[in-house]
Amino acid sequence: MELKTINYKAVLKDIYQTVVSEENNGTVATYIPELAKVSADNFGACFLSTEHEEHGIGDWQKKFSIQSISKVLSLSLAYKILGDRIWDRVGVEPSGTSFNSLVQLESDHGIPRNPFINAGAIVICDILVSELKNPKEDFLTYVREISNCDQIQFSETVAKSEASVGYRNKALCNYIKSFGNITNHPEQVLDFYFNMCSIEMTCQELSKTFMFLANTNFNIKGENVLSISKTKRINAIMQTCGFYDESGEFSFRVGLPGKSGVGGGIVAVHPGRYCITVWSPKLNEKGNSYRGMKFLESFTTVTELSIF
Ligand code: GLN
Repeated sequence: MELKTINYKAVLKDIYQTVVSEENNGTVATYIPELAKVSADNFGACFLSTEHEEHGIGDWQKKFSIQSISKVLSLSLAYKILGDRIWDRVGVEPSGTSFNSLVQLESDHGIPRNPFINAGAIVICDILVSELKNPKEDFLTYVREISNCDQIQFSETVAKSEASVGYRNKALCNYIKSFGNITNHPEQVLDFYFNMCSIEMTCQELSKTFMFLANTNFNIKGENVLSISKTKRINAIMQTCGFYDESGEFSFRVGLPGKSGVGGGIVAVHPGRYCITVWSPKLNEKGNSYRGMKFLESFTTVTELSIF
């Protein structure tokens, strides 16, 4: 099926109307107090093709907390800076465990299974804290550059809210340090991690930001963000690990590389074709947006545009 023959605007509208008319199952994340305040009724999506065709629906221009979606951005920056050396410190295997699990670290000697579970993302943050001159500022500059949007900010309120209850992430960071796989002070690494997760974006901004994984001609300042090989690898890790212990299910139902966050956002990428972002705060028991999964499943079914 050719990209141009599909009326994406009509497809988005149809799916949105169907999903919104059905039950909104799941629960808004409450373990971060600030996230518990977000209305469960928010629902939006933005489609952006590599040919710059853009369509949005619902709350597609409202900011939300991107949370773990930011882990793709930190991974891409660390990979850009250090290359394949990062794989000495974090694996590329699906964990089959929840996003904040500690259990595998003992037998894996402090090398997290992949960069998208919290343990792995914290190791990537440690790398960035070591490599960047002003870690938080430089990371934000990178995100602003690839999204081409100067308005992107951390939410100090959300970062502080998570830090105030972030016992599990503190445990993860300290435990990994005991194996020697965190080189900086845990407090500095966690401050970076909580801020990174607190970034706020709209569906529209996220689709634009993730275009560097869909369009190999994408560049900033005349330079590719990542090489074709590195882009392939990031997409591969999103495909196998982007949804924690629901990565197989997402692959099965949607058939695209993607990444979710506990703010209720999901970004999915069709390499060479498009990026699509959905936001709906209620999460299923695996911590992924209930309506987001449904929406994307319908989208790739109706358009027949999954990677498979
Ligand atoms: N900041 C969140 C946490 O560490 C991110 C988790 C997520 O989005 N899955 O718990």
